Order: sequence, then C-alpha cells, then structure tokens
Amino acid sequence: MKTYDVAIVGGGIAGLSLAYFLSPHRSVAVLEREDALGYHSTGRSAAEFVLRYNAPEICSLARIAKSFFDTPPSGFSDIPLLRQRGGVMIANAEKAARLDEVFREELPFTPELERLSRQDALDRVPILRPDYVEAAFYDPNFWDIEVESLLQGYTRGARHNGVDILEKHEVISASRENDVWIIETANGVVRARTVVNAAGGWADQTASLFGVAPLGIVPNRRTAITVDLPDGIDASAMPEINEIDEDFYMKPDAGRLLASPADATPCEPADVQPEEIDIAWAAHYIEEATTVPVRRIFKSWAGLRSFSPDKLPVIGPCPSRPDFFWLAGQGGFGILTSPALGALAAHLLTKTDLPDDFARNGIVSHIFSPTRF
Ligand SMILES: Cc1cc2nc3c(=O)[nH]c(=O)nc-3n(C[C@H](O)[C@H](O)[C@H](O)COP(=O)(O)OP(=O)(O)OC[C@H]3O[C@@H](n4cnc5c(N)ncnc54)[C@H](O)[C@@H]3O)c2cc1C
Repeated sequence: MKTYDVAIVGGGIAGLSLAYFLSPHRSVAVLEREDALGYHSTGRSAAEFVLRYNAPEICSLARIAKSFFDTPPSGFSDIPLLRQRGGVMIANAEKAARLDEVFREELPFTPELERLSRQDALDRVPILRPDYVEAAFYDPNFWDIEVESLLQGYTRGARHNGVDILEKHEVISASRENDVWIIETANGVVRARTVVNAAGGWADQTASLFGVAPLGIVPNRRTAITVDLPDGIDASAMPEINEIDEDFYMKPDAGRLLASPADATPCEPADVQPEEIDIAWAAHYIEEATTVPVRRIFKSWAGLRSFSPDKLPVIGPCPSRPDFFWLAGQGGFGILTSPALGALAAHLLTKTDLPDDFARNGIVSHIFSPTRF
C-alpha cells in the first residue's frame, strides 16, 4: 500500500490550497468526509475580500494574497478571481460620532476613503433608508471572491500534480507504526508520514483522533439570508453595506441582496442550519436600514467560523508531535487568506524559506505556530 508524504484531513479551502502549494514537492492525499469538496464553511461564505477591518496579521496576509488573486498562475481560472465591489460604511444617529472616529483613524492608512453625505450614500446605494443613515463613508477596497473558481483552481492544480483527493473518507481513528500514520477512514486505510489537520470546525476533534491535545478552536455559527431586490436596482454596481460596528452587513449576491446579522454563536461542529431568531434578525436589519421589503426569504443558511483562543490562525507542527501539523482557526477570513496561508503551510512542511513578500509584510514563518498556546 502507498505511503504518502502528507495526508491532509479536510477538503475545504484550507486543505485544498495547501494541497495545491505542497504537491510540486511532496506526495499528498486529501481526506474529506463528505462527497463534495467545500461542502462546509468554504461553500457558505459571503465571498468577501477586504484589505482592512481585520487584525493586522490578517491584513498582512490579505495583502500577500492579493497578488495571487490578481495574477494567478496561467490556467488557474478562466475568469478573474476578484471583482471590485467597494463598500459603504454606515451609521445611524446614535453611532455617527463613532463612524467619524473610525474614518479619522483609518484615513492615514487608506487615503482613498471618501466621506459621504447622506445623499452621496443614497446615490451609491439607492436602497438605503434615508432616515437610518446619519453618517457614511466609502471604501473602494472591497472585492467579491469567485470562491468556486478558486476552489476548482486549487483542486485542478493539485490533481494535476498527482494529489489523490479522496471524498467520503472520514477519518475515524489513527495509530502510529514506526514513522508512519495508519489512518482508518470510512473507506479504508490510508498511510502517511505526516498528517495535516485542516478540518475546519472539527480541528480539535481531529487532533484528539491522532492523540494530540486540542487547542481550544471554537466553531462559531454565522447566518446569512438572501432576498429579492426591487426592480430597477442594478445589483452588479451596488457596493456592500457595512454597519460601522459590524452589527450587520449586506451585499449583492447573484442579483439578490445577501444580509447577515453578523452572529457569532459558539457551537459544536456540525452541518449547522440557521436558527429562526438569526434569520429574523437578518430580515429586521434589511427593513431597518434599507427600503427593501422582505416579502419572502429566497434562501437562508449558516456555516462555521472557527477561532483559536487569540483569533489568529494556527499553522505549524504540534511541538510534542512534529508529524502532526495544524492548519486551522481561519475564522472569518479563510477564503481571502487562502493563497497566503496555503503557501505558508507548504513552506513550513518543506522547510523552505518564505518568499520575500511575506517578510515585507511582517509575516515570519513561525508567526502562527501552535507553540504560542
Ligand atoms: C456565513 C459565513 C460568511 C463568511 N464570509 C467570509 C468571507 O467573506 N471571506 C472569507 O475569507 N471567509 C469568510 N468566511 C470564513 C470561511 O468560510 C472559512 O474561514 C473557511 O471556509 C474555512 O475553510 P476550512 O477549509 O478551514 O473549513 P471547511 O470548509 O469547513 O473544511 C473543513 C473540512 O474538513 C472536513 N472534515 C472534518 N472532520 C473530518 C474528518 N474526521 N475526516 C475527514 N474530513 C473531515 C469537513 O467535512 C470539511 O469539509 C465565512 C464563513 C461563514 C460561515
């Protein structure tokens, strides 16, 4: 039976981006429980790429990732991976001073921010409710990510380099024989020298299967709904709407309006479904901040955003078990950072130097190491 250099547990954006970057250098298998790749968090995101509004380390990763999104390797995708969307930050009367403060803080770093009058905001986002918006500014640095094309690009590239992507291979247990992991899956045994834990919301559970102590990675449920836009609204030209404290956000999605109450409810890892109360909050925010009538909810869903204790990703070998490697805790930024995090993990696993743009952006190889916990 073949022994792989590396078995990656998890066929979401984390596992597949790593498979893509690692496969020129190592033999790799990806083990995914479901029969479809990206079925969990990866297939349920809001597909947003943003350069700000995250921790400084995540903004650095976004800057590194941006050049991959802008100029992916030839043949990676037939269509551009990013589409400029722009974002309008809004505040009601109660929070207008807060918006002013955020604008003043951000402007030195992002001179292209544009303060908007109420009328300017309505011109850019005609569905906004005039009596809700007291203060606003525009940030051009928001893009939509073509998540499906990104995932397909990683998958195709990995397969081309010989990666075996094994769906319906839930990892059930594991043992170590000499220097090889013997991994029992729902579909037979897989052997590998090193295991990568890219199991998203199941990262802690997966560690336990390999006899590795969990790190406290907690899945948080987040909900989104889509509703019809009124006739005459050009969804393709409309920017995102972000409440200044992220109480909610909205954006065009396939010709409709996507809204999320920005919920973050800690939960057990599962195929989560939206709760009625969170759907109701999303609908409430649409009616409070816009003139869009919520006559019916076209679609609603929920997914997991999984956070480590310091809310930064965990990337690197387990200190007491170097043949077990963490690639977890991608929170609400796993899609947008995937070109940077996949490459970072591949460099750590092959013990090679990071490209210069990592150092230029302050990302050193052990920055996200599990040793920090
Ligand atoms: C509503 C919502 C909005 C979001 N918006 C954005 C956004 O705009 N931009 C952004 O960058 N990010 C966003 N995110 C976050 C992003 O979706 C995640 O960070 C990312 O998808 C995590 O990818 P992953 O591969 O780690 O997890 P997943 O996609 O969940 O993949 C993990 C995989 O591991 C598999 N697995 C688990 N246990 C086992 C096992 N024992 N054996 C085999 N397989 C196993 C699972 O089946 C799963 O497929 C959002 C998330 C949500 C829920």
